Amino acid sequence: ALVVKHRIQSSGKWARAVAILKEFEDKCGTPIGKLRQIADAMTVEMHAGLASEGGSKLKMLISFVDNLPTGNEKGLFYALDLGGTNFRVLRVLLGGKESGVVKQESEEVSIPEHLMIGSSHELFDFIAAALAKFVATEGEGLHVSPGKQRELGFTFSFPVRQTSLSSGNLIKWTKGFSIEDAVGEDVVGELTKAMERIGLDMRVSALVNDTIGTLAGGRYHHQDVIAAVILGTGTNAAYVERAHAIPKWQGLLPKSGEMASILQILVINMEWGNFRSSHLPLTEYDQALDDESKNPGEQIFEKAISGMYLGEIVRRVLYRMAEEAAFFGDTVPPKLKIPYILRTPDMSAMHHDTSSDLKVVGNKLKDILEISNTSLKMRKVIVEVCDIVATRGARLSAAAIVGILKKLGRDTVRDGEKQKSVIALDGGLFEHYKKFSGCMKSTVKELLGEEVAENIVIEHFDDGSGIGAALLAASHSQYLEIEEP
Ligand code: BGC
Ligand code: MG
Repeated sequence: ALVVKHRIQSSGKWARAVAILKEFEDKCGTPIGKLRQIADAMTVEMHAGLASEGGSKLKMLISFVDNLPTGNEKGLFYALDLGGTNFRVLRVLLGGKESGVVKQESEEVSIPEHLMIGSSHELFDFIAAALAKFVATEGEGLHVSPGKQRELGFTFSFPVRQTSLSSGNLIKWTKGFSIEDAVGEDVVGELTKAMERIGLDMRVSALVNDTIGTLAGGRYHHQDVIAAVILGTGTNAAYVERAHAIPKWQGLLPKSGEMASILQILVINMEWGNFRSSHLPLTEYDQALDDESKNPGEQIFEKAISGMYLGEIVRRVLYRMAEEAAFFGDTVPPKLKIPYILRTPDMSAMHHDTSSDLKVVGNKLKDILEISNTSLKMRKVIVEVCDIVATRGARLSAAAIVGILKKLGRDTVRDGEKQKSVIALDGGLFEHYKKFSGCMKSTVKELLGEEVAENIVIEHFDDGSGIGAALLAASHSQYLEIEEP
């Protein structure tokens, strides 16, 4: 009798775990109708954000980039790419139309966690020091001509209100950064002061978001690039807008100024991570993650999609199963209580496990969460949780991309006209989480239909943002008059 009772109890627990899983799956559902509503909502918010400052949760920031690389860019330029857990420094020799990127060298430096939540001074001192060290390795073939100041394209992947192409104030931090005294400050000013403090003579010629850098880098290789999307630690998009379709920009111009008529295009940094809509399929886990985050109420879309958060959502679901359904036994595994312990690359590894006994899942559980002796049945449930979370994120990002195409009128085929639209993608999530990127691409097709989708190319441009910043620094170089033929 005892044995029977125990069996009933444990099957009750299993049923409870399955119920938690099913409920989560339902709430994360992204049927095509819902995705269409989200794409429409994205288009509506884009209009609102362009109409007036503060008109929408979508900031639709004006980048001051009004022309994209042509291929004529020439000279030696530096780039600095800051935005995730690492930052990169880059040295690029541009050879103009004939030779393109002649040579490039780069180095990656990881940012100690305490600097992400410390003071502005400390962070920028650290960056400037790493940059100076890199500059000191300038070699034979790759050096700045004597008497010339070095020039830098600064990719800064946070929302910035630009005041010119080479200056702008930080609106807020995202992705786990939280350095109070930098908010509202001109980040180029902060970097420049730090460079001066250590005696590094360098001029920031362009300040760009990573989406803008990727767009510029993508355009350098492909004339049909019209938008760039980052799916990495965070998520965001930029696209090329017609200047006359930006009412808030018209408002900034002098009444009968020439600028308005000269300017054809402007690149817009959407900051879509902050998108919000009642149509979003959010759950109590998302709510709790947001509440306990460094930026509650902010970046809601990003928190459902990007690499910083996917693994953490999975952890929260597993935690609930452990607590309410004794999924991992009578006690909750202590490691499972630690926020962000399950990283998205580990989630991806489990999700891609093709072994018949889900060995990778077993090993990850053991190594990261110190949970051993999981049955195959349990491992399958865990893979299922990963699938639900990744699928939702991928399909939402697809809907957002379709929102941009709608805004540009590129979501239909007009009079049989075949106009190619290339979207430049970058970011570790897109690059490494194959089930995510695969699902995202197939969902774009599903939303647009075969005929339209034939004209949409989603292409990975690796490291576009660094090169893009260097290219923009080149086209806005202080030595341009001397160099131009
Ligand atoms: C930032 C964006 C950035 C994106 C991708 C977001 O958290 O707000 O500025 O482009 O991450 O790096
Ligand atoms: Mg990359």
